[in-house]
Amino acid sequence: MLPAVAAAESNSALTSALRQFHAAADRLGLGGQQRDILTSFKTVFQTRFPVEMDDGSFRVFDGYRVHHNAARGPLKGGVRYSPDVSLDDVKALAMWMTWKCAVAGLPFGGAKGGVVVDPRAVSANELENLTRRFTAEITPIIGPDQDIPAPDMGTNAQVMAWMMDTYSMGHGHTIPGVVTGKPVSVGGSEGRYEATGRGLLYLLEEHLADAGGVRGKRIAVHGFGNVGGVAARLLQRAGARVQYICDRDTGIWNPKGVDAAAAFAYVEAGRPLADWDGAGERIAPDAVLEADVDILVPAAREHVITTANVDRVRAPLIIEGANGPVSPEADDALTARGVTIIPDLLANAGGVTVSYFEWVQARQYMHWREQQVNDELRRLLIDAYRTVVARAVQAPNCTLRDAAQSIGIERVVEAVTLRGIFP
Ligand code: GLU
Repeated sequence: MLPAVAAAESNSALTSALRQFHAAADRLGLGGQQRDILTSFKTVFQTRFPVEMDDGSFRVFDGYRVHHNAARGPLKGGVRYSPDVSLDDVKALAMWMTWKCAVAGLPFGGAKGGVVVDPRAVSANELENLTRRFTAEITPIIGPDQDIPAPDMGTNAQVMAWMMDTYSMGHGHTIPGVVTGKPVSVGGSEGRYEATGRGLLYLLEEHLADAGGVRGKRIAVHGFGNVGGVAARLLQRAGARVQYICDRDTGIWNPKGVDAAAAFAYVEAGRPLADWDGAGERIAPDAVLEADVDILVPAAREHVITTANVDRVRAPLIIEGANGPVSPEADDALTARGVTIIPDLLANAGGVTVSYFEWVQARQYMHWREQQVNDELRRLLIDAYRTVVARAVQAPNCTLRDAAQSIGIERVVEAVTLRGIFP
């Protein structure tokens, strides 16, 4: 059974997520009722709220929080601040979180939130006002047993500290388990900031175990935020040659290897990559996607590889740091050409995995050492990777994405079936 949207190129994250879901549901032989349950959203919360700006005026913002499926546990997923985030994007991202948590073996369902704002276009004070008011708006539907937000594109540890504080003030006591990705000094976990990039590195080392690991491999990283920047730095440290990096305005190419650690230290201090004076030729950011390298890491956002540019993508191995960076149609074209894709559900699961560790620590008022966090992260991700590879090898014409989607969906179906339908 193919959804009606399958004919045209998926032009939104939600059409992609639904297309991927139905392809996996076909493989699993799911019936219409199960599909109805799994493509439904438990809660769709939409709010429009005023924020006082620095000049004393008020501006109205749109915010969303979507709960997809809670069969496996409390809902989990980031909050995105972006000028073009839509309710459909948030739904797609929430659905991906459900499958991702299931693939990683975490006891969570999937959620996502978003506020339509360019965080670079408001002051720190305005961002704090916006965050506190948005948190107040979603307070009835979040909580450490209910729905636990985290950082995503455009948000960071500081935003999580404001969210935790606002929620806690409303309850009269500190509740550290309500969000993850907080600063370590207010109950965040060691290793959470680097977790998504570190997870990418662990998975690549495992995937390339018989090919000498990442050492000496030529790499292109598209996106230079918490995922791409950290991944580039860790890959460089592990001996890979990071030849291409970019943020949204500037690409840098250096065949000998860009000093990704220095570039990221520069950008982490809040400065644009364009002003960094390290060695390398300046190129268009999206040229990075077409680089002649061993490994491409799309780590910026969804739908950067589509039918418009897929023919020019040259890397034989793609590891998805972002959620949904490859459209389903581009995915088909790459698969037909023999390109291997380590899919988002697995590739970027390091972030939510350490979020889970942070939530566990917060609920126990415990603090793990970074080595313990990294060791557990590696163990869970390698387990998930091996389970996905085993499935892909077993089934005919099954890509790693097909396998990851199937395993995630299957685990949610099992939970839905065991719990039954209330009443
Ligand atoms: N926003 C991240 C993701 O897409 C992390 C979510 C979390 O830690 O809850 O996986």
